[in-house]
Amino acid sequence: MHGIPVSGGIAIGHAHLVSHARLEVAHYDVPAAQIAGELARFDAALETVREELGQLRTQLPADAPQEFDAFLNLHLMILSDATLSSTPREIIEAEKCNAEWALKVQTDALLAQFDQIEDNYLQERKADVIQVVERMMKVLLGRPGYAPPASDNERNLILVAHDLSPADVIQFKQHQFASFITDVGGTTSHTAIVARSLAIPSIVALHSARQLIRENELLIVDGTIGMIIVDPDPQALAEYRLRQNQWDLEKQKLKRLRDTRAATLDNVEVELHANIELPGDVEQVLESGGTGIGLFRTEFLFLNRDNLPDEDEQFEAYRNVVRAMGGLPVTIRTYDLGADKQINDAVNTSQNPALGLRAIRLSLTEPQMFLAQLRALLRASHYGRLRILIPMLMSAVEINQTLAFIAQARQELEDKFIPFDRNVQVGGMIEIPAAALAIQTFTKRFDFLSIGTNDLIQYTLAIDRSDDSVSHLYDPLHPAVINLIAGVIKACNKSATPVALCGEMAGDVRLTRLLLGLGLRQFSMHPASLLEVKQQVLKSNLRELVPLAARMLRTADADKLQTMLRKLNA
Ligand code: PEP
Ligand code: MG
Repeated sequence: MHGIPVSGGIAIGHAHLVSHARLEVAHYDVPAAQIAGELARFDAALETVREELGQLRTQLPADAPQEFDAFLNLHLMILSDATLSSTPREIIEAEKCNAEWALKVQTDALLAQFDQIEDNYLQERKADVIQVVERMMKVLLGRPGYAPPASDNERNLILVAHDLSPADVIQFKQHQFASFITDVGGTTSHTAIVARSLAIPSIVALHSARQLIRENELLIVDGTIGMIIVDPDPQALAEYRLRQNQWDLEKQKLKRLRDTRAATLDNVEVELHANIELPGDVEQVLESGGTGIGLFRTEFLFLNRDNLPDEDEQFEAYRNVVRAMGGLPVTIRTYDLGADKQINDAVNTSQNPALGLRAIRLSLTEPQMFLAQLRALLRASHYGRLRILIPMLMSAVEINQTLAFIAQARQELEDKFIPFDRNVQVGGMIEIPAAALAIQTFTKRFDFLSIGTNDLIQYTLAIDRSDDSVSHLYDPLHPAVINLIAGVIKACNKSATPVALCGEMAGDVRLTRLLLGLGLRQFSMHPASLLEVKQQVLKSNLRELVPLAARMLRTADADKLQTMLRKLNA
């Protein structure tokens, strides 16, 4: 099967099918003698949820709106319907599987039917079915029944999922799987970005892998070209084991560059910083020799929980990172929530979430939440070199409002005599074409800028970065994209505004020389790509790159551009 490569390397292991991590459902065979017990467990869960819902109904305050009662009644009806109360029992018996899995299989079938209904009212009932199933699942998971035999070592497991949110994938960071593959997702979707940060071979957009692959099946994953082989023959297996060893050897060799200064052959220094999602990622940054953090995506602190992290909790998290980096610069981005990263894993009901209330737009409408984060950041700035970065800015009005909030947060700390770095730098992300085109508005107001090419490309080319059906159109080399990037770098260099690039392009070694040739000197990427990019920098001669890069800017022909890129990288 072929998909889109996300993270290179080769993994050989056994498939482990997963769904939504919040309700991660494992599939295992239940021996015949245990089936009766499994059925009883399912029935008991059904009864518990029925009681829960009944109790909620009796506890409704007298002045509660009528709809509440009707709503709970509806959930009770859904629960009692044979599609949920008896079909899963039949599945347990027929497939000899665990209750959670049977419920999941049946729910997937039900939801697929809902998707085919045109009627809006019935479409909306889908959410009710999901809520009832989630209640059931929680009870079942809290009351495990037959335990499956101790499975393979985690390191040999290949996670196979249909579609996972970035919030789901981040939970896998606590485990050490061999590989991660999904049916949907574009190259720069946040799901893919987090998968990449797991630093294991990963592939997205495999379309029907989740359906075709069976639990425990042997797989070879080639994350470099985006291909998997299901149930390989011994010859293929031997070939790939060899390739895997070669890959590991290459990685091992790269480690020698960890402490080497990143400079070109003509001795121009380049800063290679790292992107992180959680404070725990710092370890990997230091191992890869990153000389700073160029992007800490703080929104991940807000996911997979029922409450929001308060100011103190955030302060601790930011301070931990700043301290762990021991004086190296740490660029922390204010939360980019909305779109595909929702608090409480809520479903975004906006028609066009990527164009909606996201990132700084959301922050500006939630002053308390935004101020709490700004105060936490400022407080942490006292403990190291912290820089604040603002995502998704587009207009001068937003810049003014944002800077006013920062001034207010500073004042609040001053009033309470709480120390912070008075010279803390504030930067803006350039990830909307309007911002790139009106770059002077930004160079004038910010201490530094950072180009977010994932969104810049999404918005310039009108390609939804999480939709794999258009990911073949995603093209960092599109003349509009490289000219926008070049324009930003040029304007920044002219006005002496430090500029970095922190989108996935920064970690793509095929583009390193082009970006260097366009004048970029600060890159921020996943720690896993850092040493490879450093190796490329060390082998590059700027004097040769600059004229070629300038010629590429004037070329509109896609084939010619590819030829020129090959020449640049030769
Ligand atoms: C970007 O858009 O390039 C970026 C770095 O931010 P994110 O991927 O989190 O949207
Ligand atoms: Mg972005």
